[in-house]
Amino acid sequence: MQSVPDCHAHLDAFPGQEADLLAEAAAAGVQPVVTVGMDVASSRRAVELAAAHADLGAAVGLHPWHFDRDYDGEGSLEPYRELAGCHGVVAISEIGLDTVVVEAPVAVQQEALRWFMELGAAAGIAMLLHQRAPASDLIDVYRALRPPRPAVAIHGFVGDEEDARAFLSEGFWLSFGPSSLGMVGAETVGDGLLRLVPAERLLVESDAHPAADDRPEVHPDVTREVLERIARARGEDPALLAEGIARSFERLFG
Ligand SMILES: [Zn+2]
Repeated sequence: MQSVPDCHAHLDAFPGQEADLLAEAAAAGVQPVVTVGMDVASSRRAVELAAAHADLGAAVGLHPWHFDRDYDGEGSLEPYRELAGCHGVVAISEIGLDTVVVEAPVAVQQEALRWFMELGAAAGIAMLLHQRAPASDLIDVYRALRPPRPAVAIHGFVGDEEDARAFLSEGFWLSFGPSSLGMVGAETVGDGLLRLVPAERLLVESDAHPAADDRPEVHPDVTREVLERIARARGEDPALLAEGIARSFERLFG
């Protein structure tokens, strides 16, 4: 079976079960997996987990949902500088813009995002972004960066075709997971949108997390079903699509 990478999972949220979840994923042909941090503690845990498990990469960052709690000017982000340089770190995540849940003004969120993007560029690693704000709010930050800019992917993409085209024309990657396809939550991107993303810019993910509020528990192995659904929407062979996504993943994180 052609394996397919899961570029975004929250394995630290399953203490003691990480090895079992990775074995379950491998049995479904889902590997490698990237586990992402939500704050300093969970970013540290992501680094530890990546050191302890083969086929597991780490991403470090401050999730926008913790922004109001943790962000207090750029000085409050300093711990991430060291974390980004740790062995096994392949991306900055999770960070991004969220004007739906986060109370901090978008200009303040943009200031932190710019700091993280400069960190990603300096460390030579990709950005894997949470994006729940107008596309232009993100593109403005990206374009204002002094080159070299970091590679950018949007995780759990739920925007419309106009957003997708705008991000693709900036050279961004788009990652789709259960929340993009109506498998978790009510949002579903259309088949037309799934067809307009070139395979070399396409990623898939589980966004694995334990059950919370109205969200069911999701494991990394769900990435196999995400792949199959996208292949069906695109009228492509899942094995060939998995190969293309593996190459796309390698270019972004390799
Ligand atoms: Zn996430």
